[in-house]
Amino acid sequence: MLRVAKVIPQTTAEGPFERCALWVAGCDLACPGCCNPALFDPDSVDPFEPGALLELLDRVHGAGVEGLTVLGGEPLQQPEGLAWLLEQAKRLELGVIVFTGYELEEAERHPSFNRIWANLDTLVDGRFDARQPELRRRFIGSANQRLHHRTQRYADPALWHGPQRVEVRVDVDGHVEVHGLPRPVSRLTRAL
Ligand code: SF4
Repeated sequence: MLRVAKVIPQTTAEGPFERCALWVAGCDLACPGCCNPALFDPDSVDPFEPGALLELLDRVHGAGVEGLTVLGGEPLQQPEGLAWLLEQAKRLELGVIVFTGYELEEAERHPSFNRIWANLDTLVDGRFDARQPELRRRFIGSANQRLHHRTQRYADPALWHGPQRVEVRVDVDGHVEVHGLPRPVSRLTRAL
């Protein structure tokens, strides 16, 4: 089981191509200027049952979505649930990107890391640091964060360069949700 705070089944703001984005709840890394403090508490959400996650992956795969992005919170603080989710995504041949606040060298010391690494394509690592905003690469919050490509699927640098993106979603009840990179998201949220 995985504590999932939010899912957007189809987005182009959380990695190359059209992706399903899934935010987990729970993080104690305290990055300077974290834009997601609402996701610090793992008990703020109920765990997603495996069946619900399988149904989600089947649905997005059937809709032609290219891949899955897992963000947080801190995905590696739920290593067993994360490893299981990535295995299911790979079974469907979805591309997998994981954003973690740990540096790869820290993550590698975790006993479950090999299982996670074996089922992702690209890992974006390192603490988010609002004092070092990323100005060149898209989808990545701060300039210190690194891309580690286990496969060639997202290894083309052109996929990570270009204008930053935010998405604005308005549901039938008029709730507005903005997501994408932290700086443009906060500017737009303030403006709204
Ligand atoms: S890892 Fe993510 S959620 Fe955790 S403190 Fe850093 S930016 Fe915030």
